[in-house]
Amino acid sequence: MQTSVRAEGATLADIDLERWGGTLGSAETFALADAANRNPPQLRTHDARGERVDVVEFHPAWDALMRLATAAGEHCAPWTEPTGNAQVARAAMYFLHAQVENGTQCPLTMTYASVPVLRDHARSNQAIGEAWLPRVLARDYDPRPLPIAAKRAALIGMGMTERQGGSDVRSNLTRAQSSSDGTWRLRGHKWFFSAPQCDGHLVLAQTDEGLCCFLLPRFLEDGTRNAVQINRLKDKLGNRSNASSEVEFHDALAWRIGEPGRGIATIIEMVRHTRLDCVIGSAGMMRGAFAHALHHAVHRVAFGRRLAEQPLMTTVLADIALEVEGATALALRLARMFETQASEHDRALVRIMTPAAKYWICKRAPMVAVEAMEVLGGNGYVEESPLARLYREAPVNSIWEGSGNVICLDVMRAARREPRALDALFAELDEARGANRDLDLSAAALRKQSMNADDPSTARQAAQAIALAFTASLLVRRAPAFVADAFCASRLRNAAYTGSAFGTLPDECENVALIRRASGE
Ligand SMILES: Cc1cc2nc3c(=O)[nH]c(=O)nc-3n(C[C@H](O)[C@H](O)[C@H](O)COP(=O)(O)OP(=O)(O)OC[C@H]3O[C@@H](n4cnc5c(N)ncnc54)[C@H](O)[C@@H]3O)c2cc1C
Repeated sequence: MQTSVRAEGATLADIDLERWGGTLGSAETFALADAANRNPPQLRTHDARGERVDVVEFHPAWDALMRLATAAGEHCAPWTEPTGNAQVARAAMYFLHAQVENGTQCPLTMTYASVPVLRDHARSNQAIGEAWLPRVLARDYDPRPLPIAAKRAALIGMGMTERQGGSDVRSNLTRAQSSSDGTWRLRGHKWFFSAPQCDGHLVLAQTDEGLCCFLLPRFLEDGTRNAVQINRLKDKLGNRSNASSEVEFHDALAWRIGEPGRGIATIIEMVRHTRLDCVIGSAGMMRGAFAHALHHAVHRVAFGRRLAEQPLMTTVLADIALEVEGATALALRLARMFETQASEHDRALVRIMTPAAKYWICKRAPMVAVEAMEVLGGNGYVEESPLARLYREAPVNSIWEGSGNVICLDVMRAARREPRALDALFAELDEARGANRDLDLSAAALRKQSMNADDPSTARQAAQAIALAFTASLLVRRAPAFVADAFCASRLRNAAYTGSAFGTLPDECENVALIRRASGE
């Protein structure tokens, strides 16, 4: 990761990365992560007198992890200190966090991603800006159930998905009615409403003017709870430290954010940033899984040799190392495209590379997790191993914020409607032209394929091809030849490769060198 951080213009000192890595990698933080997941949040709907309270109670380990991450600025740093490399620096922090605990990353991501929307709105509504932004941007953690004015720091969530549809949010049924005082009342439900303890949520609801975006506070100014009833917490496969809920709105108070009828266009700015975090988070999970696998293989002896030295295991580890290096390079390059001072080229590129990277990296994460788990043998399959939790966690980023198919259709939409995005993609691929034959052939094929961006049944092929060619071009320009050549030979030359298991690298790959590089030797 350090190579990619530097390649994207940040330095380790920019983020005090080594100290943050030390904090996250300590036995104490791993113990907190374990405790927060073994003791998932509990919903208390009523108090002893039968009054509704709708409180989500967390284990102290959750609060301790949130305190660490908010103090480090994981939810706000690029907005408060928008240096030229602030997004890259923050991505590196997030990448490290993803190797240790993922549930806490949900509210951190949503809070981070809400800022561009809130800031934009604050230009026309000063009161909302003044009440919310300083608290959202505070490097502090304040879980007290109080109205926003009484808080030191605030967290923000997002509510779009309803029972009848998550991908197709235009099918939302929740209705909003305007009140004479300029506020709105929301009536309806949300079927997935993560982190309901957040101080506010950006939600979508229908109005006479179409779908609008609203800021829904958890508490009202007078200190009473807003009319948001939490019915259940989801019993999830993974992501267990985090609370994801089902809620009903019973004339809940909200403020409209953005233009009337432009709800999707408003919240999409938040979604763009949560998609970035899905990419960084999944790349980080891969690195976390691989680090455990490598450590085991280097120390475990079987049949008279260290596992890492058994030729077939060497191939498996080298193959995963390549996957992780490629995903890391792509994730941090994507983060650079989000910088406030991003170049015109990057502004065009980000439109197509966000969904392409989200699709491919999030798809590969579960495969890396399962293979890394197997490197540990039976020990990987038990709950004391961090691999069990990573394995359960790994699919989530592919499902939320645009499931695989939906995100691939978005890649196609970008290719069809935004010629500047495609031009930027090919311009970037051209920068590596002539250095690797497999990449040149892939780039040429992609040019032909992009002419045919109308057939939705080929959208996965397109997204995969873009993500792989772009990653290969990064490695060709920056990594040693043995890394770039192995990536191109395995991932680009052999089209069937990516459907097969890890450990099938072509003979020409320098497996030992790949593992040494991944070990930091
Ligand atoms: C742990 C977790 C936390 C979540 N937290 C939140 C949250 O805080 N807020 C929130 O709003 N949502 C949240 N979600 C919901 C998530 O965003 C949705 O589940 C997701 O967007 C998919 O919507 P859906 O479940 O309704 O599936 P559907 O929209 O029914 O889609 C089902 C499948 O069909 C595919 N599909 C859909 N349309 C097409 C098409 N045109 N062509 C081909 N395939 C298609 C999709 O890719 C998907 O694979 C969360 C989900 C999870 C798992």
